[in-house]
Amino acid sequence: QPSSEPVIYLRGRFVPDSEASLSVRTHAFLYGTAVFEGIKAYWAPERETMFIFRAEEHFRRLVQSCRILRLKAPLDIRRMVELSAEIVVRNGCREDTYLRPIVYKADRRIGPILEIPDTVDDFCLFTAPMSAYLDTHKGLHVCVSSWRRIDDNMIPARAKCNGAYVNTALIKTDAALAGFDDAIALSDDGHVAEGSAMNLFLVRDGRLVTPAVSNNILEGITRATVIELARKELGIPVESRQVDRTELYVAEEMFLCGTATEVAAVTRIDHRAIGDGTVGPITRAIQDLFDQAIHGRLPDYMHWLTPAGTP
Ligand code: PMP
Repeated sequence: QPSSEPVIYLRGRFVPDSEASLSVRTHAFLYGTAVFEGIKAYWAPERETMFIFRAEEHFRRLVQSCRILRLKAPLDIRRMVELSAEIVVRNGCREDTYLRPIVYKADRRIGPILEIPDTVDDFCLFTAPMSAYLDTHKGLHVCVSSWRRIDDNMIPARAKCNGAYVNTALIKTDAALAGFDDAIALSDDGHVAEGSAMNLFLVRDGRLVTPAVSNNILEGITRATVIELARKELGIPVESRQVDRTELYVAEEMFLCGTATEVAAVTRIDHRAIGDGTVGPITRAIQDLFDQAIHGRLPDYMHWLTPAGTP
């Protein structure tokens, strides 16, 4: 029977939330030297189970982030997927839930060095209830941020590195304080990269257009999901390429996508209407397919889901 206090996986075991603490000397706290994932598990009422969406792909990306930062994940991908299903069950989750796995530099020695001899990096995992992060249907108003996305040769966007989220926080906070729902970050050369913590798609001439992976974006799993569903299920061509800022102003439709964001329609940017200023048909079709996929209603895509049944 799940206790009222959720458990967290830390230092190789499940402990109650109130006991899951770290020293202030922890390297990851001192230097941001950690990588993480954001994974969603959805409640599927027809099956009375939770489904974790694309868990294996998330842990593959976590391992990729580890390689970039010279961190060593102490567990393999299979074990991390198993622990994800286990924590959902242990915490008795029966509503949409966010999972946050982190591999962090646990050493307590001072010095911004990634390769520390004789240390192991630690893995932790917690859950939090979470419905969609932005209103997916209202039609968001976003701006182009004055903050730029960090370049691959600075802090690689391809790695989901904790320290890099200072950039996200600046983009998101300034947009919110200026009255926008979110913001689009340009890369240092002035091309469109992505939203504060989500990828971006435009519709131009009935085709989907999204910034290519070489434009300082996170290689989003929702982005890959949208591309696959659009091509296979809707027969809509997708161009992954460099995108100019002013293409944002002439697009027919726009949406943001990410694990927490899901698929969120954007209908205004920098005080200009996108298309006719309403949520467009391609955005709606993608939202609908995505919603079916995450809830296990698309038989061809069940391999994206890890069931985590409640006991
Ligand atoms: N870009 C950034 C900077 C993000 O933080 C996220 C959220 N993980 C995304 C894009 C979307 O990626 P995903 O679909 O894999 O969640």
